Amino acid sequence: MKTIPGHNTVNMITRILSAIVGGVLLLLGIAVFIMPEVISTTFLSLSTGGAGINSLRADIGALFLGMGAFALFGSLTRYRWVLLIPAVFLCLVVAGRVISMVLDPFPTNTIGALVMEIVFIMVLSLAIISHAFSGKEQTQPETVRAFASYRFLIVAGAVIVLIAGTFVFRPQISARVWSGGIVGRMSRSTIEDLPDGLHVGLAGTGAPMPDSQRVGISTFVIAGEHKFIVDCGPGSTLNLELMQFPLEETTAVLLTHFHSDHIGDLDELMLKIWTYGARTEPTLVMGPVGVDTVVDGYNKAFSLDAKYRYAHHGDAVAPSSGAGGRAEIIDGFGPDESVVIFDRDGVKVTAFLVSHKPVDPALGFRFDYGGRSVVVSGDTLPDETLMAQSRGVDILVHDAMNPDMLNVMTRASEATSKAVAGTVATDIQTYHAFVEETARIARDADVKHLVLNQILPPIPASILHSAFLGDSRRIFDGPITLSYDGMLFCMPADSNSINSQWLLQ
Ligand SMILES: [Zn+2]
Ligand SMILES: [Zn+2]
Repeated sequence: MKTIPGHNTVNMITRILSAIVGGVLLLLGIAVFIMPEVISTTFLSLSTGGAGINSLRADIGALFLGMGAFALFGSLTRYRWVLLIPAVFLCLVVAGRVISMVLDPFPTNTIGALVMEIVFIMVLSLAIISHAFSGKEQTQPETVRAFASYRFLIVAGAVIVLIAGTFVFRPQISARVWSGGIVGRMSRSTIEDLPDGLHVGLAGTGAPMPDSQRVGISTFVIAGEHKFIVDCGPGSTLNLELMQFPLEETTAVLLTHFHSDHIGDLDELMLKIWTYGARTEPTLVMGPVGVDTVVDGYNKAFSLDAKYRYAHHGDAVAPSSGAGGRAEIIDGFGPDESVVIFDRDGVKVTAFLVSHKPVDPALGFRFDYGGRSVVVSGDTLPDETLMAQSRGVDILVHDAMNPDMLNVMTRASEATSKAVAGTVATDIQTYHAFVEETARIARDADVKHLVLNQILPPIPASILHSAFLGDSRRIFDGPITLSYDGMLFCMPADSNSINSQWLLQ
């Protein structure tokens, strides 16, 4: 092979550039492994949520690490043809983006990534071509010729035909896959298959501040034959359905207090409990003094819709007598500030007073069944009654706040002239428990597993978990779960095991 004059310089430059491409890809891969949500939302325009984080870290991380490793290997050794591997992957990535631009809405936010990938392909291609003409690599023509072998061309042609066929017949293929999937999904329910025991599901784990991974607060508890929903923050009813919680079997909705982030979905929830089971009795809604005001208000707001539903579906779906809710005030607290509000079929539910002033009264709930127990704190400062009720429980679900992180938000709000947001971030610190205080409660009450919800401030990425928890893990040596929507904790009766699953993808 002839060497073109001056070519060695070009070859060196393209080699350095391709090594830089390899380094960038490798760093991206490592970064995805460490903080998948940050990289995927910032650089790759991927949305993240729920269990998706696992595949995001694994698949995207591995793709970038692989491309980076091959790009570096090809740049730093004489086997320059290896650069074809990352180049081919990047071509496929670009093809995927172009197809998405044709098929999907709003793809423009990926333009930056697309430009970067095209530049990378050009750099890698130049490095391969310049090396081929440098005369240093005598096996290069052979390698290139291998791509023209008829066996390779047949396989490549078959792959192209397969992709083109899938593209052309995508309406039929997707309809077939969907119809198969929907039957499977409707006939299968993790919740219906749970063993006898006490089970806790997190349908909403967020606080009032917007959080892309958490809706308004809501926790369901399945105790033997009975099913309870504690609070119903905005958006949580849809999550209850996505988790396949059988709304129509709800025994009672329990409200801890009447902040909007705990009751904002009550109309939607009552409507679905009613119509999914064609129930003839209104939904039982239990809460502290004032619950009648809340339920009456929702009943009134929702009375027109209730008429439409009956007119459309009749008694088979929406019998008029079952519309709306029936309020039951929880009071009669004993000296220990608790009262048993449900005691049937081996299931005991205890309501107790917590500290959330100026919201007064505000409640927490304890559930006991089959030798297992769980406490749901509601919103509270560290509280003696809650500590007493939590003694030895399997799971304590407690609201949690990191004051240092909130103070950062306060300063950011002030810097951007959002004074009201800054004041709210400061004020909420006077009626929520600091995260390390919850760890102390869990330790002193001998709780087995601490689950933190109502995360304040919202933390957008799992890499912030340890910063949010601060010293909590040193204080409490049991497991601590920072909650996400869709988590389910299963406690089979008369055992010690706590199994967890993630029901939202
Ligand atoms: Zn509150
Ligand atoms: Zn709250």
